[in-house]
Amino acid sequence: MAASQIQNPLQNPLYQLSIRKTRPCLHKPHYLTINAAGHHLSGRKLRVAVIGGGPAGSSAAEALASGGIETFLFERSTSTAKPCGGAIPLCMIDEFSIPLHLIDRHVTKMKIISPSNLAVDFGSKSLRSHEYIPMLRREVLDSFLRTRAQSAGAQLIPSLVTHLEIPSSYFSPYIIHHSINNSRKTLAVDAIIGADGANSKVAKFIKAGNYTCAIAFQERIRLPDEKMEYYQNLAEMYVGDDVSPDFYAWVFPKCDHVAVGTGTVCAKQDIKLYQRGIKERVKSKINGGKVIKVEAHPIPEHPRPVRVRGRVALVGDAAGYVTKCSGEGIYFAAKSGRMCGEAIVRASDGGELMIGEDDLKREYLMEWDKKYVSTFRFLDLLQRVFYGSNVAREALVEVCGNEYVQRMTFDSYLYKKLAKGDRWEDLKMVFGTIGSLMRCKIVGREMEAFKL
Ligand SMILES: Cc1cc2nc3c(=O)[nH]c(=O)nc-3n(C[C@H](O)[C@H](O)[C@H](O)COP(=O)(O)OP(=O)(O)OC[C@H]3O[C@@H](n4cnc5c(N)ncnc54)[C@H](O)[C@@H]3O)c2cc1C
Repeated sequence: MAASQIQNPLQNPLYQLSIRKTRPCLHKPHYLTINAAGHHLSGRKLRVAVIGGGPAGSSAAEALASGGIETFLFERSTSTAKPCGGAIPLCMIDEFSIPLHLIDRHVTKMKIISPSNLAVDFGSKSLRSHEYIPMLRREVLDSFLRTRAQSAGAQLIPSLVTHLEIPSSYFSPYIIHHSINNSRKTLAVDAIIGADGANSKVAKFIKAGNYTCAIAFQERIRLPDEKMEYYQNLAEMYVGDDVSPDFYAWVFPKCDHVAVGTGTVCAKQDIKLYQRGIKERVKSKINGGKVIKVEAHPIPEHPRPVRVRGRVALVGDAAGYVTKCSGEGIYFAAKSGRMCGEAIVRASDGGELMIGEDDLKREYLMEWDKKYVSTFRFLDLLQRVFYGSNVAREALVEVCGNEYVQRMTFDSYLYKKLAKGDRWEDLKMVFGTIGSLMRCKIVGREMEAFKL
């Protein structure tokens, strides 16, 4: 929309400036009044658009709509699935009330396999009888979360967002340009949550800056029944120069097939070489399998330089919330979406007041950082220590053989809380780990890098 079509804010009474849109808009009202942050909205509720209907966007939309905000959830593709392993931590089932029938596989066994093919069982002894890693299909999970956001009152707009008009003044709305079946529409809103993943357009429009990305590549392979049986409740992680120079490769069981993949940050151009590497390592286990899908997608390596600007906040992959070391992002996407939605509900007093940048920073960003910054930094350190060379990877597998290490890892991963340890066992674990690392001569170099 041309700037001239927007009423000059200075001609309006203070705090009651407005915008007129000439092109017909799918969603009323065509005319939106914007107040200063903290001021009462007269006769309407705060209007927020969530762009992206993955776990981050749907969770944000559900929290907003449940809290009384007029909520619009944009999703360009409601039927396809984002490339993903689909493993979630156990705590997400309760915390996000995920119905158990959505779970395809209950992973109770993990193997981590070193460059020299030393395999360590991870889980068979250290998981408690009721514990497992739930594996879901993303199309199933995402569709469930979107439907629930709709039930809470969010309006789902199955549409591609093509452009955002950033307000020219403090009192103007954001204009979202989107397209449904080649028909172009606009929508004026007070605030936006950008949940549009690693290639976020919202982040570009608000000049949020870039982040380094890994590339993840995976093939979905349908195995003969007897081979699938082996992966029934087993996930495998492979480390080594042949499968990735700085990450791990995986075989994850899915509903009726396995996902075999790998990732890298530092050698993206060679990703297919590493994919051949992992397929070579698991050759005997996947022989006779049929590739049914090949997919690749970026994975953010760290948060963006800017995650809130004006009345726009980024969540999930758009913000950069994927942990190093494990490449886990589904839980953090859903959690950040929910936290951001709830923050807006709080700051706007249930949609009665206009919000501003300070509200988003205080209620969302600071709370997020307080909760998760150290977890992200710690996993970053582990990745640098253990994924850097084949000797370090051998040490990693050695350390993973320790039952106490396994228990602490599962407690942290499954429940997303810093696990409470036993002091004596902690001490033994530290010495054991240092011992393994000393054999690799890498402990001093990497501890330098861990500055909290
Ligand atoms: C190969 C691979 C395997 C992975 N495995 C795991 C795993 O096992 N466990 C785990 O926890 N994490 C895993 N991850 C990471 C995880 O997939 C992401 O962290 C997670 O999907 C982030 O969720 P999100 O909602 O932020 O973004 P996304 O899931 O990317 O969702 C963004 C949504 O926005 C929509 N969208 C984008 N642009 C627009 C637009 N312009 N208009 C409208 N809609 C738009 C997209 O269609 C999409 O639905 C994996 C990642 C990859 C690449």
